[in-house]
Amino acid sequence: MLQDKDRIFTNLYGDDGVDLAAARARGDWDGTAGFIQKGREWLVEQVKASGLRGRGGAGFPTGLKWSFMPKQANGPVYLVVNADESEPGTCKDREIMRHEPQKLIEGCLIAGAAMGCTAGYIYIRGEYVREAEALERALAEAYADGLLGKNAAGSGFDYELYLHRGAGAYICGEETGLIESLEGKKGQPRLKPPFPAMVGLYGRPSTVNNVETIAVVPTILRRGAEWFAAIGPERNSGTKLFCVSGHVNNPCNVEEAMGIPLRELIDKHCGGVRGGWDNLLAVIPGGSSVPMIPKSVCDDIKLDFDSLKNAGTGLGTAAVIVMDKSTDIVKAIARLSKFYMHESCGQCTPCREGTGWLWRMMTRMAEGRARPEEIDLLWDVTKEIEGHTICALGDAAAWPVQGLIRHFRPEIERRIEAYTASQRLAAE
Ligand code: SF4
Repeated sequence: MLQDKDRIFTNLYGDDGVDLAAARARGDWDGTAGFIQKGREWLVEQVKASGLRGRGGAGFPTGLKWSFMPKQANGPVYLVVNADESEPGTCKDREIMRHEPQKLIEGCLIAGAAMGCTAGYIYIRGEYVREAEALERALAEAYADGLLGKNAAGSGFDYELYLHRGAGAYICGEETGLIESLEGKKGQPRLKPPFPAMVGLYGRPSTVNNVETIAVVPTILRRGAEWFAAIGPERNSGTKLFCVSGHVNNPCNVEEAMGIPLRELIDKHCGGVRGGWDNLLAVIPGGSSVPMIPKSVCDDIKLDFDSLKNAGTGLGTAAVIVMDKSTDIVKAIARLSKFYMHESCGQCTPCREGTGWLWRMMTRMAEGRARPEEIDLLWDVTKEIEGHTICALGDAAAWPVQGLIRHFRPEIERRIEAYTASQRLAAE
């Protein structure tokens, strides 16, 4: 369990002030100019040494991603911060923007300096109205204090930071969809390559990072890369914000060490599963797009990128959705299928058509209105979508259904048998 002295987000719940003075009292903006003056290479090496992996879902090593940016760009270069947080179950970046906005702004400046950026853009989801207001206030304070703009924070580095509001589309959380939207176009993901580090925002080299990823960087530099790397298992270092929702006694957001056992997280911070641990049915451990795991796996699974990958699921955004035995598990996944159908941008045929197929079949499966061999057909449809699309939304739609079939096939079969028997009875 993470000790209080190792917490990065000490004002996660807003108990303390949100303004710049309160942020400074918590240690934000301490020594920022000194870090920037050590140069790009030093900054990137520190982040690499910390082992920080992207907190937005994919878990790609942050320092390595930063190192892809060209050393000589001959023109503008951008940092884009993905604050579109739309993955169902996820509400961690929201708390950072509400209560720790200066950590994010300071992180934007340092990340911008590490990649030689001329400006940064924070793209915030449209529904986050209050969070956008909080960020606007924090940005105004930072500018008024000389922390942004010319000679930002006295570092000799010039850097502008802008806030841009999205209109509330899930697909704008995909990095190239986000860039398109930021450019004023429809938020439709781009075919890659070229990757944003070569051709990104306005055709210029850009890096897109998640809010939490950027917000932890200043503390990593202040406390040292070794400190961060020593928390959590190898290759999965650091602290992480977990959002626990669903059938627990106290749903919450909490910062914990990577690799914390799922059961410990739920018991220590959430007051346990409703009705006790034995009443647990399944958990979606990383936001709605990762496959669920049944109780037998939950019993001793650890929450980090590699452990969850080995269990056939993923850490994703660390949004832990808990479902107890009162859950209609087939209906729950059918509801997710509807979400992905609705959010598909429609560019790729397997996603545009396939997500609709999934939803229609899942709706019938939830009622048992299907033939047993259609379960295999449903599986085949997910395989036709997975890996055959421009962006990860296709996979995100396929994986929850795959997780259901993998772990709860007997339940689907039971419903089909019950429905068939009831129809036969009615006919007789
Ligand atoms: Fe659009 Fe779906 Fe293709 Fe992504 S996978 S680009 S959401 S159609």
